[in-house]
Amino acid sequence: MEKFYESFGAHVFNDKEMKKRLTDETYQLLRKTIKNGKELDPSIAKDVANAMKEWAMEMGATHYSHWFQPLTGETAEKHDGFIESQKGGRVVAEFSGKNLIKGEPDASSFPSGGLRDTFEARGYTAWDPTSYVFVKGKTLYIPTIFCSYNGEALDHKTPLLRSMDALNKQAMRILKYFDNKGIDHVKTTAGPEQEYFLIDKDLYEKRKDLMFTGRTLFGAMAPKGQEFDDHYFGVIKTKVAKFMEDLNSELWQLGVLAKTEHNEVAPAQHELATIFLTCNVSTDHNHIVMETMKKVAQKHGLVCLLHEKPFAGVNGSGKHNNWSIKTDTDINLLEPGDTPSENARFLLFLSAVIKAVDEYQDLLRISVATAGNDNRLGASEAPPAIVSIFLGDELTAILEAIEKDVPYQGKSKTPMKVGVTSIPTFPKDNTDRNRTSPFAFTGNKFEFRMPGSSQSIATPNTVLNTAVAEELKKFADVLDASKDVPATIHKLVKETIKEHKRIIFNGNGYDPSWIKEAEKRGLSNYPNTPLALKHYTDKKNVDLYVSNGVLSKAEIESRYEVYLGTYTKTVALEARTMLNMAKKDIMPAVIEYSGMISKDLKLKKDIALGFATDYEVALLKDVSSLSSGLYLATLDLEKALAKAEMKDAYELALYHHDVVLAAMAKLRDVADKLEVIVGTEYWPMPDYAKLLFSVK
Ligand code: ADP
Ligand code: MG
Repeated sequence: MEKFYESFGAHVFNDKEMKKRLTDETYQLLRKTIKNGKELDPSIAKDVANAMKEWAMEMGATHYSHWFQPLTGETAEKHDGFIESQKGGRVVAEFSGKNLIKGEPDASSFPSGGLRDTFEARGYTAWDPTSYVFVKGKTLYIPTIFCSYNGEALDHKTPLLRSMDALNKQAMRILKYFDNKGIDHVKTTAGPEQEYFLIDKDLYEKRKDLMFTGRTLFGAMAPKGQEFDDHYFGVIKTKVAKFMEDLNSELWQLGVLAKTEHNEVAPAQHELATIFLTCNVSTDHNHIVMETMKKVAQKHGLVCLLHEKPFAGVNGSGKHNNWSIKTDTDINLLEPGDTPSENARFLLFLSAVIKAVDEYQDLLRISVATAGNDNRLGASEAPPAIVSIFLGDELTAILEAIEKDVPYQGKSKTPMKVGVTSIPTFPKDNTDRNRTSPFAFTGNKFEFRMPGSSQSIATPNTVLNTAVAEELKKFADVLDASKDVPATIHKLVKETIKEHKRIIFNGNGYDPSWIKEAEKRGLSNYPNTPLALKHYTDKKNVDLYVSNGVLSKAEIESRYEVYLGTYTKTVALEARTMLNMAKKDIMPAVIEYSGMISKDLKLKKDIALGFATDYEVALLKDVSSLSSGLYLATLDLEKALAKAEMKDAYELALYHHDVVLAAMAKLRDVADKLEVIVGTEYWPMPDYAKLLFSVK
């Protein structure tokens, strides 16, 4: 019997296939391209394309598609057949080197924030050769970047690749002050943990809110929630286990390293972690994971919800982004070492991260700012909207000893000296590590916990890479000018901890007192997307992106427009969906229910049973007064939407937050009160109890 892992990567044109199907010379040139992340040598494109096509056709593919990540947040694909006609009505299968390297989809309908005028609708896609092509269904997928005709980025991946370049450049400058034998380049790695909900497909289809917006806009809490903590790591139900089995096998075929799976805190909530890879490949794989989850769920009569907050009252879903920096010789630069020199390197890179997170806390916050994630960040289940770093007591004590020129915990006679004193070993994977921190050091990597479950990890990683590149650049400038390198390294670490320790917080991030404390420390706190986005175009942020070659000013401004527009559209869609449900479903149901009570009342009156009807009168009064409330709340929400006419994208987004969302909350509040008293059979949609507990 074939072992389960033998089909791993069977649908990927991976190294094994390349080696098998290309001449040695072409293979070596392609390897070099992949290793260095350079563009494909055009002289070999034809042979590579041909080998890919042959392989893909053996796998049953008839089409190929450039696969990219426009600013919609979803992925996009356009399929072209391999088929080409020839003279005399004959057809052949063709896939040229040109078609592999570059595609030209009509890009006019993708968001560009004004970067591309519609008369110049063309955009182009270009293969990212560091991410393997793969066959899914009958199509060969080619992971690409997506740019306007002038080369401006229209996607999430281009800036990510640029940020990896920027970090590589600066990290290599730093590494020359350490043992850098054989190191050719440095890359960042990411390992995302994907949370999701699984619910019954038939129930899903009875909820317009889930279908149109991905989250429930109405719904009173079920009698049971997550209060028993019985779902977390609980026994996986049969139907869910079958789904996971199927999901794993599809992902493994596509070369995705799906590894850890378990039930999460909320009922019906689960998690899948893939093994970390280079940032860009990991980003592609996470998109494959999300798409495959949705597809496989359908096959099992389920729907996979990737929204950040599908249900009020139980935990929402995030996507922890584990991140580190690695050399091509496999040295993890965020891993403490055994020698004083390795530790000096570790402490210097660590300092760059601490400084970067403090200086660009706003950009990190912005990188996870979406309408969906606003429902989660800051609620007491997810990290707060304030960015801070958890280092753990041991590492914090080490840095404090360096800052104050004292021995570590008084354990030796001499003060801590970077590059001279060994740093004491501390438990690498603190099991009791702080789960409330938005950015936690977990022994040899950082875990950024703010990203939302449905978002691409490209942007958070772009910010991390760019901000750290910037701080490494500043360090390298100082080192390049220094006459005493070891003393300078010590000084850089010491100064960083002194100037940026405000960002380090090892306490409970869910505690309300932290908000006050953070304010005292001068940390930024942007509780919602519009307020966060406002700072995207601040001069210091524009300077960061521009000087590191990650985004141009025009690209930043276009993204600002796109992000604000997406926020506004999301909230407006939710508001319209609520109005539709309230007017067309909930109100008629409530009228029917109160009609039933009235009829019963009249009947009892007719037979002179007035004394038995007190509770019915009371119930009818309650239902009637809540129904009036519901009606008035729909009017208010309609009015709020009608007044949304601001020209400025920021004003409009903020209005949707301040006024439209507030009106939505009032409407939900009355509707949920009605749900609690109206008979189950009358309520026009499946309730939380059904949605959360019916998958067996
Ligand atoms: P937990 O739930 O305890 O945070 P998991 O095992 O679910 O831990 O997830 C840890 C994630 O971190 C995995 O995706 C793993 O591959 C990833 N990871 C481990 N080392 C690194 C690294 N050096 N760089 C990036 N990600 C890493
Ligand atoms: Mg985690």
